[in-house]
Amino acid sequence: MLLNDKYKNDGISLIKLNNLQRKIKKQTCTICKNTNFQKLAEKDRYGLYNPVVICKYCGLIQTNPRMTQDSYIEFYNNEFQKLYVGTKNPKKMFPLHGSKNGVKIYNYLLKHKVFKESNKFNYVFEVGCGAGLNLLFFRKKGFKVQGIDISKEAIEFGRNKFKLDLYHGVLKDMKFDAKPNIIIYSHVLEHILDLNKELSLIHDILSDGGILYIEVPGIKDILKSHLYFLKYLQIAHVYHFTLNTLNTLLNKNGFELVFGDESIRSVFKKINNRNPEIKIKNDYEEVLEFLYKLEYRILLYYMIYMLRKIKDNLKDFKIKDNLKDFKIREIFSIIMKDINHYKKRI
Ligand SMILES: [Zn+2]
Repeated sequence: MLLNDKYKNDGISLIKLNNLQRKIKKQTCTICKNTNFQKLAEKDRYGLYNPVVICKYCGLIQTNPRMTQDSYIEFYNNEFQKLYVGTKNPKKMFPLHGSKNGVKIYNYLLKHKVFKESNKFNYVFEVGCGAGLNLLFFRKKGFKVQGIDISKEAIEFGRNKFKLDLYHGVLKDMKFDAKPNIIIYSHVLEHILDLNKELSLIHDILSDGGILYIEVPGIKDILKSHLYFLKYLQIAHVYHFTLNTLNTLLNKNGFELVFGDESIRSVFKKINNRNPEIKIKNDYEEVLEFLYKLEYRILLYYMIYMLRKIKDNLKDFKIKDNLKDFKIREIFSIIMKDINHYKKRI
């Protein structure tokens, strides 16, 4: 319990702020630059402070306020893997058997006819490649492959174990001899703080008409991927997309959607105009309604679970044969134990 309710973080300043102070305090939306947000959550699945808001003008869900880039890098270097995987053992952090996702990415690109002009697409670069597991399959298929990651351990592991051409660092530090035709971001973009800067850099690096493959956790896929919103939230994710908000962000930075789904796997193509005027399709109402429905659905699952338990307990008490022995208080206490057990699970 707090010392007093006034210590709750409601964002209201106790002292009068001037324009500069207000500007510094208010982070703007990464897509539409507005500052009108609705708060959705204050913690993540690990129980860490994680203020997540939705923009009322475009519907992008984002962490706000966010840590600085330096703090995020510090976090990734020292804490992220240990927190996320729960181990310091590199063998457990970077599985030795290779990644099935590399095959999935290849097949997805194949299915959406990215390789139709096969000679043109022969050089794959992956940002946030980890130990390079996704790249292994592309190398097997004859592509030139390279990758970059901010985890020194992952890069060293991938270089030594798989003899891959991997670099430690961030995209802006990478020197390219030629322009990659395919750039992959698999579960990486949601971690990046300044997305407009990153996409501008990708626009510079990618060959003309080149392909950007983006995979991020999709808000509309939560029921399947994590069951509910809180279990899905984690401090390392700065942005949470629908295909629409991702598409808006990419359109704004000179990429057009070739294909995408809500899981989210998507293929974008670089267009010549790097900052076109776009019309934002606001996702706010739709996303909010989706999240509320998700909460109701969880409540429904909870009720079904409870009803099943009541049914099982009634069976145990042989209610039909021994009506006189029926002890509602005992049944109630068992159900309450189940509620507490269920509460712990969620
Ligand atoms: Zn916005």
